Amino acid sequence: MLKLDHVTHHYGALRAVDDLSLGVGPGEVVCLLGPSGCGKSTALRLAAGLERLQQGVIRLNGKIVADATVDTPPEDRGVGLVFQDYALFPHLNVRDNVAFGLGGSSASRGQRAAEVLRQVGVDEYAEAFPHVLSGGQQQRVALARALAPGPGVMLLDEPFSGLDARLRDQVRDATLHVLKNSGAACLIVTHDPDEAMFMADRIAVMRDGRLVQVGAPVDLYCKPAAAFVARFFGEINTIHARVERGAAATPFGPVPSALVEGSAVDVLIRPEALKLHPGAVVPGRAAGCQASVIAARMLGRSSLIHLAVGSGPAGLHLHARVPGRFLPAENSQVGVTLDLEQTFVFER
Ligand code: ADP
Ligand code: MG
Repeated sequence: MLKLDHVTHHYGALRAVDDLSLGVGPGEVVCLLGPSGCGKSTALRLAAGLERLQQGVIRLNGKIVADATVDTPPEDRGVGLVFQDYALFPHLNVRDNVAFGLGGSSASRGQRAAEVLRQVGVDEYAEAFPHVLSGGQQQRVALARALAPGPGVMLLDEPFSGLDARLRDQVRDATLHVLKNSGAACLIVTHDPDEAMFMADRIAVMRDGRLVQVGAPVDLYCKPAAAFVARFFGEINTIHARVERGAAATPFGPVPSALVEGSAVDVLIRPEALKLHPGAVVPGRAAGCQASVIAARMLGRSSLIHLAVGSGPAGLHLHARVPGRFLPAENSQVGVTLDLEQTFVFER
């Protein structure tokens, strides 16, 4: 439904998008995820036709809309657009905002607008003007307006970043279901990994204009292809090590690695990969070691325990995250073992 092939885009000497190839199928939600300035919005604007394509090919609904010779204007591309600032028309009420881009008789336009407003749950505000609506309601109206013509492709650029945290969770949830019901191919730009995990069937991680990894959220989280991806999905412990006899040596035992013997590596350990055992006992014959508790804090759904492993210059300060309430006393000793499923080795 949406396909970008080898798309490259420069602003002057700056290469904002670098050989980007990405497809989004019908009914699929793909999140383009990366830090601010990595080229996400540029890619979306190219797909929308808001920026003239310089290199590559863009197809929508099976048709070339941009290449070296073709440049279909945005209004003829059949895409629905939602931006962070919603861009509602202030002088039109909610119904007219949604009906604005629709063809047909006034009656059929009004009917379609009412139908989409009902789908996104703001039909009771049809007569209201945008300025009296909350941020969440405005977002829904913007979504309704984009969906009203029944586009095959929806492009959304940071659609939730204007909302405060509590509201954002609700609006995300509602938006996900509305998008899924629409059957459109959806590309959502975000810098927020939690949002991408929540919304996406697939996530495309971007850095400096290039795709780093594309996959299901579970694959990116559990099998990151690069240290950048592992780090992007949340705080992670780093231990410097060297590969010897097929493994990186850590205080918790060897972590298998296929990297070249002698390579200097970073062992990346998610906070939830450190398994803590009260009483400083490491069970069975599991590899592991002792650590002393520097501090323990309950953060709501999980507890964060700051640990010291070893001492002196080689000592490590690590963070462990344990579900629920687990608050060992400061300076007490705990046993620590490692979940290798959530431990990754990359060349330093
Ligand atoms: P993102 O959406 O990931 O934050 P953008 O696509 O907006 O990134 O920007 C990518 C890079 O291109 C940034 O370095 C940004 O400063 C630059 N850039 C974006 N738009 C323009 C423009 N119209 N002119 C010049 N530079 C731009
Ligand atoms: Mg952007």
